[in-house]
Amino acid sequence: MSKPLKNQLQQEVEKRRTFAIISHPDAGKTTLTEKLLLFGGAIRLAGTVKGRKAAKFATSDWMEIEKQRGISVTSSVMQFDYKGHRINILDTPGHQDFSEDTYRTLTAADSAVMIIDAAKGVEAQTKKLFQVCRMRGIPIFTFINKLDREGRDPFDLLEEIEQLLDIRSHPMNWPIGMGKQLSGIYDRHKQKVELFDEQDDEKIEYTEVAGYEDAKIRKMAGEHLHDQLCEEMELLDVAGDDFDLEKVSKGELTPVFFGSAINNFGVQTFLENFLQLAPTPAARNSNEGMVEPTEEKFAGYIFKIQANMNPAHRDRLAFLRIVSGKFERGKTVFHARSNKNMKLTQPQQFLAQDRDIVDEAFPGDIIGLFDPGVFRIGDTLAENKTLSFDELPTFSPEIFSKVIVKNALKHKQYQKGIDQLTDEGTIQVFKTVGFEDIILGVVGQLQFEVFEYRMKHEYGVDIQMQRMSFSHARWLVGDQIDPGKFRINSTAVTDKNGHYVALFENEYAMRSAMEKFPDIQFLETAP
Ligand code: GDP
Repeated sequence: MSKPLKNQLQQEVEKRRTFAIISHPDAGKTTLTEKLLLFGGAIRLAGTVKGRKAAKFATSDWMEIEKQRGISVTSSVMQFDYKGHRINILDTPGHQDFSEDTYRTLTAADSAVMIIDAAKGVEAQTKKLFQVCRMRGIPIFTFINKLDREGRDPFDLLEEIEQLLDIRSHPMNWPIGMGKQLSGIYDRHKQKVELFDEQDDEKIEYTEVAGYEDAKIRKMAGEHLHDQLCEEMELLDVAGDDFDLEKVSKGELTPVFFGSAINNFGVQTFLENFLQLAPTPAARNSNEGMVEPTEEKFAGYIFKIQANMNPAHRDRLAFLRIVSGKFERGKTVFHARSNKNMKLTQPQQFLAQDRDIVDEAFPGDIIGLFDPGVFRIGDTLAENKTLSFDELPTFSPEIFSKVIVKNALKHKQYQKGIDQLTDEGTIQVFKTVGFEDIILGVVGQLQFEVFEYRMKHEYGVDIQMQRMSFSHARWLVGDQIDPGKFRINSTAVTDKNGHYVALFENEYAMRSAMEKFPDIQFLETAP
């Protein structure tokens, strides 16, 4: 086989890191992303990203809902270079109306960065996103943000992370003071102090020290803060977990960094450590075993489809994660589901809202493909015709609705819309057993709004949604499932593949059913 290609792949994979940022709204994801991009010298983006929420909608002509609500419905991908590395950030919508898309985006990441607000600790959305990362066993790095404000005691925060998320933690650095008293952070591994300077977020100053007891720190931070640092470091050294890269790789231990994104404080230290510790693009499983990134044959899979970026053309954009081989513009690949070769002529790369045409891309990169309506989430595109990557998980919806079509004559369009929107993964469709009534399920309320909007504008169907009282869904696996038995505060339905799913009104009803039917498995994702 060609040696130069193998070598090139090895080099390109080595320098790449693809990660997602997970956090609860307002923790500082946009701010941290902006600072990271600035380190990468992507200066022209600085203004763009900072004003992303507003600017995007001034220029974007897609979806009124985005404009009205001022939020980003979709996640985008950003790429930048830093000291010989190429970094892909997968952005996940920060609003609480996040969707199943957010979860699926995480499947394209090789690691995750979890941002926590020092005053608020672990919040609801962080927890949900964390659980998806945990399920995949990817490394998770923690950035505790907003040290410039009075936050909670760092030990408290660590304990909360460990307890609520069931992961061990290892602080890589430690704050010297907090809020008004914030004077710096002490790097436990490199033994240096980064000084805090609120006035100037461009200048980053480090002082080498000979350990936390060094009198230099006393001079800089004062007696009181230095005493406190020494005490806390001793406690950490004795009671804290040791650093263990293997545990980090398995997602069992999270390296914790402190900082203040808005002041660009602790961000560079975080980035440099992250690049050192985070994994290179990982192999993915397929019907032919693990596909390694350095395999020469190109292969990738679609994890997200975004519709209507340009309503004039009604085109869709499919996001493809490259798993192996080298991508070149004009490459011909095989699309197994349609059993056709395809020439990829117009691939797009994403830098915030700019879309540049890509000529070359490598494992770990995300490219956008123009989709005339042939792709589905989870589709494999590969040079090897028999290859097929594992299906992406379907996540348990939390909001359910019945749909009434206002004009019965529009039923055909309605069905077409339902089929297409299910392909895109915008909604999940269930049918009641016996009556075949359609019930839609989503992870976030916004998905319903998008559904309603698109039904009207793309398919010309006016619908009315009738919210149902269910809040949990579990796929049922077992030898003898009698759907008639799910009646009390629950109902049994089938999903698009005919699997039985039980919908429950509350956690209690779900737990009771689990106890009552010990022979049935209740799965959170589709089998
Ligand atoms: P997102 O919703 O997670 O993307 O959060 P943003 O990055 O938009 O930040 C939410 C708010 O927190 C904004 O008003 C930011 O200016 C502010 N913020 C972000 N980082 C910091 C920080 O380190 N310190 C302080 N005091 N505020 C911050």
